[in-house]
Amino acid sequence: MWFPIPAPWELLPTRPNFRDPLLLDHNTLAFFQFTSSQFTPQLKLKGIFVTKECISNLMACRNQFPCSLTQSVIHPASTMARFQLFFVLFALHSLLHLPSLTATGAHPAYDDQLSCSASSASSDPLPTPLRREEFDGGRIIDITHFYRPDMPSWESTEGLGQFLRLAESMANGSKANGSEMKLGAHSGTHVDAPGHVFQHYFEAGFDVDTLDLAVLNGPALLVDVPRDSNITAEVMKGLNIPRGVRRVLFRTLNTDRKLMWKKEFDTSYVGFTRDGAQWLVDNTDIKLVGIDYLSVAAFDDPIPPHLVFLEGREIILVEGLKLENVKTGIYSLHCLPLRLRGAEGCPIRCILID
Ligand SMILES: [Zn+2]
Repeated sequence: MWFPIPAPWELLPTRPNFRDPLLLDHNTLAFFQFTSSQFTPQLKLKGIFVTKECISNLMACRNQFPCSLTQSVIHPASTMARFQLFFVLFALHSLLHLPSLTATGAHPAYDDQLSCSASSASSDPLPTPLRREEFDGGRIIDITHFYRPDMPSWESTEGLGQFLRLAESMANGSKANGSEMKLGAHSGTHVDAPGHVFQHYFEAGFDVDTLDLAVLNGPALLVDVPRDSNITAEVMKGLNIPRGVRRVLFRTLNTDRKLMWKKEFDTSYVGFTRDGAQWLVDNTDIKLVGIDYLSVAAFDDPIPPHLVFLEGREIILVEGLKLENVKTGIYSLHCLPLRLRGAEGCPIRCILID
């Protein structure tokens, strides 16, 4: 049985400033060292820093203590006591919350990539780079899939394939590393511009560079749709999305089935039907439609819903979102496409801020 305790900064008169120059860099939070491998909160103040990332990923590092030891520093005596109190409480807080972190794992699909390796500043090997799906304690959630050769690609059984090539290699004598990539514009988490399905829009230049950043950024609603159907007019009606909501991310059975994690393209994914798209256009104020597989439209009839959405050139479609383990509700959505003039689609980075 674990009991929540207040975050350590709540016990202090004022919250320590993480960017205090005394701390040398903003990722550096503590100077304790973990000495236990079994969660026993035995702490030992040793003048050693532990990075913030390390603390937030204790579950991944529990067998690797001490982790990410970076550097030591001498604090002015006047601030020492305060910092010691904060750090000890912080460590206790982290350790006591460890079981729940382990149990719920915000993004289980990434568990094997959370890492935190040990290194001292002086001579040990470099730490393993941290791969994060959430930042700032979960306040910022990355809903973008990272690109990988075995991610699904439209109508392919072989996945995306090798899209990245190291054209200039330092290991082979080049002065710098330089990669090249070859990637379909509608790969992974990406955006569709009106030119995707309308030739006259394509010729007129309605490409991803013309998309409205005011639509791509702002309050958004994440909803779960019924799992037994495509997104039809009836489903849309049943969601009761109020007027005034301009951005909606639709989480579907595709997320439950982890389709974006399967190499082989799956034609049985769910998406909008034509009448579902039409209902949205006619009865809501939604201008950004997000979905959790490679197309916003069901495979049986993929073009008509795109036509309905994109004809007015007001609605932006974001496809291939990573919505696992994100609570439904309202977030601040931030999506930024590349400025690829002439492209009717392109990869996009999307985050939610809670
Ligand atoms: Zn697309």
